[in-house]
Amino acid sequence: MKNNFPNFKLIDHPLIKKDVTLLRDKKTQPEYFRAAVRRLSNILAVEIGKTLKLKEVKVETPLEKTKGYKLNEQIILIPVLRAGLSMVSGFLDIIPDCKVGHIGLQRNEETLQPVEYYFKIPKVESNSKIILLDPMLATGGSASWALKYLTEKKIKKIVFACLVAAPEGVKKLLKEHNKVEIYSAALDRELNNKGYILPGLGDAGDRTFGTL
Ligand code: URA
Repeated sequence: MKNNFPNFKLIDHPLIKKDVTLLRDKKTQPEYFRAAVRRLSNILAVEIGKTLKLKEVKVETPLEKTKGYKLNEQIILIPVLRAGLSMVSGFLDIIPDCKVGHIGLQRNEETLQPVEYYFKIPKVESNSKIILLDPMLATGGSASWALKYLTEKKIKKIVFACLVAAPEGVKKLLKEHNKVEIYSAALDRELNNKGYILPGLGDAGDRTFGTL
């Protein structure tokens, strides 16, 4: 689907297309599903990493002194439990010194509204940048709830990373949080009446953890 959304970065990459196809395939077993999520998260982390601020440092090679760089931002990954957990290792591969918080949100299957059951995040400093992780941006209810919670705590720099997004969720998130940037590996057609993304990949948590 064509991306006409501001602040929505659809990552266009052959390896992303290949691995999203693997995730969509209902025959893909959890072991291969998890590996593909990790590789996709690697690529998303590299893309998001392009925006990170650096500070100059001095470094001494075995031959001479030279200029080097350190990250000038403290990255905090916040996976939305449970499916968001699957993206953590892929981000840590690329940005190993991240801190990790957790938000536990469950979908009420009737109202499709998020219900919080766990919240624990590291101390947020002035140079902290949050990367909120949830593989599926469906109705946008959970992501919007999590972003509201974080912005109420005066956290300013927040990026949302997902693997598959529905236009409905993207619209809601960008309308309610106009400063947040969304990075996604795919933009799908629509939601069905149960809030699942079409064509999608099914329930990302169940596919990851084999709880189908
Ligand atoms: N959550 C999922 O895991 N899959 C969807 O399609 C929508 C929400």
